[in-house]
Amino acid sequence: MADITVHDKRFSVYLSEATLQERIQELAAAINTDYAGQKVYFLAILNGSFMFAADFFKYLTIESEICFIKLVSYKGLKSTGDVTTAIGLEEDLHGKNVVILEDIIDTGKTLHFFLPQLRHQQPSSLKIVALLHKAEMTRYEVPIDYTGFVIPNKFVVGYGLDYDGLGRNYKDIYQLAEG
Ligand code: 5GP
Repeated sequence: MADITVHDKRFSVYLSEATLQERIQELAAAINTDYAGQKVYFLAILNGSFMFAADFFKYLTIESEICFIKLVSYKGLKSTGDVTTAIGLEEDLHGKNVVILEDIIDTGKTLHFFLPQLRHQQPSSLKIVALLHKAEMTRYEVPIDYTGFVIPNKFVVGYGLDYDGLGRNYKDIYQLAEG
């Protein structure tokens, strides 16, 4: 498959559309099994997870609700460190089975600082599905329950993921080309 150029950089296909769809079906099947007979409230993290969440959601057979949220980080007081808050989360999560849908976990910082806020609402369960995980880069503790692909520390675009705003529209995931 041909390389693409996004802004000034060249990218090569890394995970094809077929590979992605096959794995996403497997992830959804695992959720369908693990939550059989239960209802799940999915939280999809914008912007990057919009395509993943849309495809994943089509493979679910359990009772499912979904909410798209945006995470915004800011510096808290010295003692509390970073604070990450959600825009668009109006539902009370108390007593619900909550599953986060994230496109990529890199250092883990974003979710690490957001999870306490969700736990504070006392969902009956809280799990994380990450399509991509740059495991060697993860420095902050994040309990990932379902992983699509563990990938190396190379920048990726496509399938919802951008490089400086562009490249989200591709069906495949591309990796920064060498040289
Ligand atoms: P973390 O907080 O886990 O370090 O970072 C997660 C966020 O970093 C992702 O939601 C995404 O926005 C961004 N990110 C990390 N690696 C990549 C990458 O290879 N490509 C793109 N497009 N975004 C990335």
